[in-house]
Amino acid sequence: MARNRLLHFVAAMTRLVEAHPGNEALLMAGALPLMRDLVSADDWLPEAMAAAHPRYYQQHLLYGDPLDRFSLVSFVWGPGQKTPVHDHTVWGLIGMLRGSECGQAYARSADGTLAPCGPELRLLPGDIDQVSPTFGDIHVVRNAHDDRCSISIHLYGGNIGRIARHVFIPDTGEVKPFVSGYSNQLVPNLWAGEPA
Ligand code: FE
Repeated sequence: MARNRLLHFVAAMTRLVEAHPGNEALLMAGALPLMRDLVSADDWLPEAMAAAHPRYYQQHLLYGDPLDRFSLVSFVWGPGQKTPVHDHTVWGLIGMLRGSECGQAYARSADGTLAPCGPELRLLPGDIDQVSPTFGDIHVVRNAHDDRCSISIHLYGGNIGRIARHVFIPDTGEVKPFVSGYSNQLVPNLWAGEPA
């Protein structure tokens, strides 16, 4: 039987947040190899967590730490779907699992508007991107494909379904508060089958 990658990840992340509470640098460094392992094979994501919506990109909660120290989300892009320009207000790792997505960082200009910063980066399966208020937290992300779904796995250093963050209108610099929530009402069963 294949190792339970998801359970292994969640168990290792729980040990990590126990060992380094609130230490973003150590948590991101420790989570990176875990995310690499998680997205190194596309053989573990439950079908319900891979479901797309015809109009809206989906954020299926895979696991939420009961103490809100981290959350893990299956981010499912329908063909051509795209986020607004947004921030996270917490560190995050994005691991590409299936298909491909493109991310463009934004930075605030002196006049208060927001402009693209650096080249658009394309993630392929196994690739990982990082966001954080400490080194760059504002971006826009889109499915690289117009004819099929893509899926990336997002790890956040808090409960992203509960965290207050922002959407930006780049041309005016206008800021709108939002909380992303989760698309699904159920989480996978982590309490049966093989232990981690
Ligand atoms: Fe994002």
